[in-house]
Amino acid sequence: MLPTPIYKNQKIFVGTIIVIRDITKQKKLEEQLKHLAYFDGLTNIYNRSYFLDKSSEQLKNAIQTKAPLSFILFDIDYFKKINDHYGHLIGDAAIRHVVSICKKELEHESIFGRYGGEEFVLCLPGKSISDAAKIAEKIRAAIELTPLNTNQELIFVTASFGVSDLNPYAKTLEVLLHESDQALYASKESGRNAVHLAFNGSYVGFDPMVTINK
Ligand code: GH3
Ligand code: MG
Ligand code: MG
Repeated sequence: MLPTPIYKNQKIFVGTIIVIRDITKQKKLEEQLKHLAYFDGLTNIYNRSYFLDKSSEQLKNAIQTKAPLSFILFDIDYFKKINDHYGHLIGDAAIRHVVSICKKELEHESIFGRYGGEEFVLCLPGKSISDAAKIAEKIRAAIELTPLNTNQELIFVTASFGVSDLNPYAKTLEVLLHESDQALYASKESGRNAVHLAFNGSYVGFDPMVTINK
């Protein structure tokens, strides 16, 4: 703020007015709004649109450098039953619980977003489909083995996974996410709590005991 001089009878200088405004609150609000534009309010991971922005940058980079890139889509199984049986607040806690389990299994460069209600998405730069399948399997097993403790009871949660990778037949974000989604659907169809991979239009179950060569 510029100092404003004060004159008596428009001639005699008597002093200066300096206005000091505390803009801490305004700045804090601006930061909160900025945060909301990128992060999901319930889980504090990336929201869908920021996830898509970040992963399309990674996709461009992977195509240019011919580096591997994979996507994992996963969805909590029978989540409606959790909401119906325990209520929405416990449902919200289950969503946060799954996110925190998943975060522990991820490397720094992984991009993690909330894709929809109880559906999540990962973009894994530098990871082939077999690397990504192993990561998905680790997350799947960790979710299955780590129940949510509500102080009253343990709630067991599982999730179904679909994995796709950048390849000559899947080179756009749209196709890659569609392929992950179809593989996720195959996991649901197989009975849930499973990982399926997209291979050129077919969707195969991942068996951690079998090594895949791709
Ligand atoms: P499936 O195994 O086939 O995935 O079945 P599902 O019951 O998990 O799937 P469905 O899509 O039928 O139900 C998802 C439910 O998730 C419906 C919606 O009310 C709930 N949901 C979406 N977002 C939130 C949220 O932020 N909090 C809570 N508590 N529930 C949510
Ligand atoms: Mg579900
Ligand atoms: Mg769903």
